[in-house]
Amino acid sequence: MVQKQQLPITSEDYQRRLLMDRSVPGRTGVSLPALDVPEQPLPGTGMLRDDLELPEVSEGEVVRYFTNISQLNFSIDTNFYPLGSCTMKYNPRVNEATASLPGLAQLHPRQSPEQAQGALELLHGLQEYLKEVTGMQGCGLVPLAGAHGELSGILMMRAYHMANGGSHRRKMLIPDTAHGTNPASAAMGGFDVVAIPSDADGNMDMEALRREATDDLAGVMFTQPTTLGLFDTHVVEMCRIIHEAGGLVYGDGANMNAILGRVKLADLGFDVVHLNLHKTFSTPHGGGGPGAGPVCVNERLLPFLPEPVISVEKSSDGNRYVFSRPTQSIGRLGGFFGSFGVLVRAYTYITLLGGQGMLDISGNAVLNANYLKEQLRGYFDLPYDRICMHEVVFSAKLHSGVKALDVAKRLLDFGFHAPTMYFPLVVDEALMIEPTETESKETMDAFAEALRRIDDEAANDPDFLHAAPHSTPVSRLDEAKAARQPYLRWRPD
Ligand SMILES: *Cc1c(COP(=O)(O)O)cnc(C)c1O
Repeated sequence: MVQKQQLPITSEDYQRRLLMDRSVPGRTGVSLPALDVPEQPLPGTGMLRDDLELPEVSEGEVVRYFTNISQLNFSIDTNFYPLGSCTMKYNPRVNEATASLPGLAQLHPRQSPEQAQGALELLHGLQEYLKEVTGMQGCGLVPLAGAHGELSGILMMRAYHMANGGSHRRKMLIPDTAHGTNPASAAMGGFDVVAIPSDADGNMDMEALRREATDDLAGVMFTQPTTLGLFDTHVVEMCRIIHEAGGLVYGDGANMNAILGRVKLADLGFDVVHLNLHKTFSTPHGGGGPGAGPVCVNERLLPFLPEPVISVEKSSDGNRYVFSRPTQSIGRLGGFFGSFGVLVRAYTYITLLGGQGMLDISGNAVLNANYLKEQLRGYFDLPYDRICMHEVVFSAKLHSGVKALDVAKRLLDFGFHAPTMYFPLVVDEALMIEPTETESKETMDAFAEALRRIDDEAANDPDFLHAAPHSTPVSRLDEAKAARQPYLRWRPD
C-alpha cells in the first residue's frame, strides 16, 4: 500500500488562512501621502455603499497570502506536466529576457513603422522561419490562438471558394478524433461539418472519405500527427482525393513536436495550416494566457491572408519593413499585429535552436513518448498499438471499476500533473500522455513507476483510488457542482 503523501499545509489550514479571516480591525498595509490636490466631493450617495467589507491586513500578510496561494498552483516550472495535445514543455528563460527587452516590450502599437524597423524585421524573420517549417509560401502572424488561426484558415477557404465560383461548397469533413475547436471553427465559418470515422489502425477511414468527396465539398480539416498521436499514413492520398473533388486541405499544426525538421506539411498536400507558438514554440500557456496561432498558406491562398502581413522593400540603402494588405485579404482579425510578446519568444526559440535543434526536438519528443509507451505496456491498454509520435494514448479500461479520472487524480498525489483524459473521444477511458522532448529519462521512469503503482492499487484497493487525490489542498471535487455552483468569493459565515 502506498503511503499518503505528507502535506505542506492541510486543506483546513488553507481555509483558515483566507485573507478575510486574517483581518484585524484598524490594521493597515499602506500609508497614504498627505493630500496635495484640492479635495473633491464624493459621487452621489446612489453610487456609494458602506457595506463593503475589505480585509484589514499588513503588507507582509498580503505578500504571504498571495505567495502561498501561488505555490499551490501546479506548473511546468515545478513538476512534470504530461498533458497530451497541449504540449507543456520547458520554456527557456532566454525567451523571457528577449521579450522584455525595453526596445521590444515598450513599443507602442501606434508608433510609426519607421521607428519600429527592428521589431518589424523580427516579425518578418519569424514569418520566414514558419514558412520554412511548414514549406508554405506565405504566413500571417495575427491570429491570437490556435482556434483563432483555425478561424482565419476557414475564412480564407471560404473566400477562396467564393472567388472561384464555389459558393455552393458548404461541406467540411473533419475526422472524429479532431480537437473540438475544429468543428467549432468550421461552423463559425458557415460550413456544414461532416465527421469522418477512424479505421481500425487509427487512420482516417478512406472509404468514408471517398463517399463524402462530392461536388459540394469545401474541404477537410486534418490534424497530422493525429490526436491519437499517430502519423496518418494515408495523408497524401487523402489530400489527392480532396483536391480532385475541388476541395482544400486545412492542416491543424497545433502540435508540431513530432515532425519539426522531418516533414513539411505543404509537401504532404496541405493548403493552409496553423501553428500554436505557445505549444511547439515554447511560450508559457495555460489558464487562458496569451497565445499565438499564425497561419501559413500555399500559393492558392496567398492573396487571402489576414492583414497585416510584414513585407520587405529592398533598396540600395537597405531593407525597409512595411505592413501590407494581401490583395483579397479576409481583413483584420483583431487589433494591431497579434500577440507580439509571444512572437518574440518563438523567434528567439527558433533562432537559438537552428535547424539541428529542430531535428533534436522531434527526435527526442518521439523517442520519449515511445519510451513511456513501452514502460507501461501491459499495465494500460493500448487501443492503437503502433509506433507513436509525440504523444501516446492509453485506455484505463483494463482496470474494471476504476476510471481514467481515478488514475489521473491519483497521479497528483505522486506530484505529477494528470495527463489529458477522455480525449480523443474515440478511445474509451482515454489517457493521453505527452512527455515532450525536454524531460529526462529519470523523470519518465519516476512517472512510469507511479502509474505502475496505481495499476497495483486499482487491483487491490480501488476505493482508495476513487477518493484520490489525498494530498492536495483540495481533494476530489464534485465536478458537476463545481461547475454549476462555483464558490468564487469570500462570504461572511
Ligand atoms: C490546442 C489545440 C488547438 C487549439 O489551440 P488554442 O490555442 O487552445 O486555441 C487546436 N487543435 C489542436 C490539435 C490542439 O492541440
